[in-house]
Amino acid sequence: MKILVANPRGFCAGVNMAIECLDEAIRMFGSNIYVYHEIVHNKYVVERFTQKGVTFVNAISEVPEQSILLYSAHGVSPEIREQSRARKLQTIDATCPLVTKVHLEAVKYAREGYHIVLIGHEGHDEVIGTMGEAPASITLVEDPEDVAKLSFPLDAKVAYLTQTTLSVEEAGRVIASLKSRFPKIESPPKEDICYATTNRQDAVKQLAKNSDVVIVLGSQNSSNSRRLQEIGASFEKRSFLVDGAEELQREWFSDADTVLITAGASAPEVVVQDCIAWLSREFGATIEEVTTREEHVAFPLPRELRVLQSARN
Ligand code: SF4
Repeated sequence: MKILVANPRGFCAGVNMAIECLDEAIRMFGSNIYVYHEIVHNKYVVERFTQKGVTFVNAISEVPEQSILLYSAHGVSPEIREQSRARKLQTIDATCPLVTKVHLEAVKYAREGYHIVLIGHEGHDEVIGTMGEAPASITLVEDPEDVAKLSFPLDAKVAYLTQTTLSVEEAGRVIASLKSRFPKIESPPKEDICYATTNRQDAVKQLAKNSDVVIVLGSQNSSNSRRLQEIGASFEKRSFLVDGAEELQREWFSDADTVLITAGASAPEVVVQDCIAWLSREFGATIEEVTTREEHVAFPLPRELRVLQSARN
């Protein structure tokens, strides 16, 4: 058996920043820290911080007054920020700057009187945060069928935005339906699906065709990880999304000569290496890392944390 290890894979710049931010906050304040939603959508990462004493909450009312609260990489709506202020929380914003970009676009289009169509998945933390920026102006669509149901007048000002972690192909289909229904529809100059999502999907598209099985490391609630697993399946390969090596099953690999391993943007490298070690042990697999694109993106820690850091030094 040969293992193809996709590169790029795993942590993106936004996830690296959010995790570093929480680690640094723990160093500075101890572990009596609260995080609104999962810091990133990964079971392993959340368990690691939970073991350190961090508390993850789904409502601001769960956070004691005047506590330290981190906003996760997926961003929050203005309403959540307001609730935190009312509770006198000391907040640190670990929202990925590429998510913030989409929030700012929503605010701008709403201010200019556009109907905004957000392409995304209902209930995802990022979508809830973005919609909260301009709830009266944004309509969520998931697929071309939703586009057919839109009832804006044909001469209305319409713009579209997208969740950052969609399938490039599927989003493209929804955008094509939007453009055919609203030929003058506006969009931001630079697209919203982020570089990390695009690069990880491109790597699977290039490598899956030469593989028999595709293993994606990531959690079930990680949007970009699920898209990678779906791309593997779209090449008619056995394609699995797993949190770690303990979920791998021997029979998935029967008759498999080549296994592609990748990881979603929130999955740590340690779980990738565990899977490689398991396959090497069980099947005597050899390993080939294939780089389809170099990534050199990094984001600074949030300003409020840097200010606190320099005040301490
Ligand atoms: S997947 Fe993209 S948008 Fe999401 S945290 Fe990573 S870089 Fe930011």
